[in-house]
Amino acid sequence: MSVAARVVITGGAGFIGSHVVERFLGEGHHVLVVDNCSTGRLENLTHVRRDPRLAVEVADVTDAEAMSRLVGRDDWIIHLAALADIVPSIQRPLDYFHANVTGTTVMLETARQAGAARFVYAASSSCYGIPDVYPTPETAAIRPQYPYAAAKYLAEQVLFHWGQVYRLPAVSLRLFNVYGPRSRTSGAYGAVFGVFLAQKLAGKPMTVVGSGAQTRDFVFVSDVAEAVLGAARSTLHGEALNVGSGAPQSINRLVELLGGSVVHLPKRPGEPDCTWAAIGKIRQALGWEPRTPFERGVRIMLEAIHHWDGAPVWTPETIAEATKEWFACLT
Ligand code: UDP
Repeated sequence: MSVAARVVITGGAGFIGSHVVERFLGEGHHVLVVDNCSTGRLENLTHVRRDPRLAVEVADVTDAEAMSRLVGRDDWIIHLAALADIVPSIQRPLDYFHANVTGTTVMLETARQAGAARFVYAASSSCYGIPDVYPTPETAAIRPQYPYAAAKYLAEQVLFHWGQVYRLPAVSLRLFNVYGPRSRTSGAYGAVFGVFLAQKLAGKPMTVVGSGAQTRDFVFVSDVAEAVLGAARSTLHGEALNVGSGAPQSINRLVELLGGSVVHLPKRPGEPDCTWAAIGKIRQALGWEPRTPFERGVRIMLEAIHHWDGAPVWTPETIAEATKEWFACLT
């Protein structure tokens, strides 16, 4: 596969996107970042901004006209741009369907019209809901439980439809709990790492949900970037691949590694006690391996803790308020 292929990375100014950008630049590719900067931040690209092979366009993936001006023949499209987080997706479902389903459809149609060479889509493990099978394979039942999960999954279906009808080479990566430097620090109550690190930095107790014995398949962001690169270089077509560590960790283990006091919150209705990716398929298809042990990943996060300076410090009270509508949907 030619190193000269240009790579269009939507959402390239976001947390995961900025690591993916770095990885492709490191391989010698020309990269065009397309980001509307609604949640992405150009500062996430500070360390690569002088690279002459990097271009950045502030534009929205739902803007078909703008996209058609940006995407060219033989480009590889890495489509990461999306609205994230559960709670706002319950409050504003239309925004989520617009950004995540229509946005993906616009990118697919743009890719088809332009004659793009590959399309890699970042899907979410939230499509599995509360799984029956652990570790959870790609063939498991699909049970989205909130609009974010439903929209991410529907967009995957659209991806495969474009792949089938127009023969656009399409791969979907179902990302488990991605963590790493530059994960988002502000906005909605969300991913546990940001919540705990901001609390630790402020000298406040970490808000452990339930007993803390629940486990998550945390996968380090540089391993995810490697999976994206592998998928883009592959000849896979019409496949969904789990991207996880395959080694779930409990919240109590995370607390132990971070160090600090805790306060317990009520268990969340409808949340899985465990997420655990079956990663045999991606291992086989891409020769991909998760390379960052949890302990090392957490150490890297602790070294970067000052990133969470000024981030919202959630308390049991503000969390109860922020999750009211979410829990009402699930009980
Ligand atoms: N969690 C927690 N305290 C928090 C936020 C999250 O103990 O303040 C736990 C939560 O119960 C879950 C895990 O951390 O088991 C991961 O939560 P997150 O929202 O990051 O991801 P998801 O639940 O969507 O997998």
